[in-house]
Amino acid sequence: MTRQIICAACEAADPEIVEIGGLRRTSCPHCHHSQRVDIEPFDYTHFAMGSTGIAPERLKAQADFIATRLGDGARALEVGCAAGDLAQALRERRSFATYDGVEFSPARERAAKRLDRVFDAPLENLLSSGAIEEASYDVVLSSHCLEHLDDPSAMIAAMRRALKPDGLLFIETPNRSGHARLPFDDNRSHIHFFGVLSLTRLLARHGLETIAAETGARLDARYSDSLRALARARATLGVEAPLLSDHPSLAGVDKVVVWGAGRMVEEMLEHYFDLARIAFFIDKDERKHGTIRFGAPVRGPDALAQGANWTVLVNSLEMECAIRAEIAANHTARVARVVSISELLGS
Ligand SMILES: [Zn+2]
Repeated sequence: MTRQIICAACEAADPEIVEIGGLRRTSCPHCHHSQRVDIEPFDYTHFAMGSTGIAPERLKAQADFIATRLGDGARALEVGCAAGDLAQALRERRSFATYDGVEFSPARERAAKRLDRVFDAPLENLLSSGAIEEASYDVVLSSHCLEHLDDPSAMIAAMRRALKPDGLLFIETPNRSGHARLPFDDNRSHIHFFGVLSLTRLLARHGLETIAAETGARLDARYSDSLRALARARATLGVEAPLLSDHPSLAGVDKVVVWGAGRMVEEMLEHYFDLARIAFFIDKDERKHGTIRFGAPVRGPDALAQGANWTVLVNSLEMECAIRAEIAANHTARVARVVSISELLGS
């Protein structure tokens, strides 16, 4: 009886089979993933995953890719940390509450000097035994390991278990063959050959949304086209986002006048602004005057005369300059501050 082959990335059944170097591998028509069917035994005794690619420029590019999306004080876990070179490069850029690793090869002795803790057991076992607590890391990383594993999906599942709900997952692996001019890779220790689609599909199956990805990342001369990706748990639509009205530029302002009662009222303010803080709307369209939007009346610009020290929110991107100019020309006596929707969206 022949074993049914399932694509490890997208779970499609019976992908196409090709033969390279006398060994069969798949070619998935759905996600373009390729995985070995015939696997030669490989001696990992002294093979440190992720041990190549310690050229300073490579470590810089890799660490910068991660660090730009990571704050200080994170708890990090790197699976296949080799001698801890990435850990060291990241520690030069960010502070970490802890930086732990998993490494089976003797390289872990070197890593132990650079990391807080280095484990030498599979992540699944560490989670099951409680040696590593579930949902305890802000970032879980793995560089050039996934392609060596029989079951990369199990590895992503374990990494996800170790990750906090809002944590960040980093993966780097050769992109396809790992070299732009080589059509395939016959490294006998590589079981899986990922591309952008198959890696992101695999992550998506585990509820992880890829937020940044790049190809052409150089590991070394042979794997000069590597793929690196950062992912986090997929956000549930409808979860309350930080309100635009919480922006520091509106701190201490009780009520604002919203200038612009167009489509941005429904598309932005209804979802992301505390509507109770809107005193009234201003719009130049007289047909809107006297109507009520979300409990606040729509008026003409003259309504600013009924009060003083107004904070005006310019609720238009296209008309921002014109509205600001009109306020500057005619309403400075009544308007203390002008804030625009583009400012609230800016940072
Ligand atoms: Zn597939």
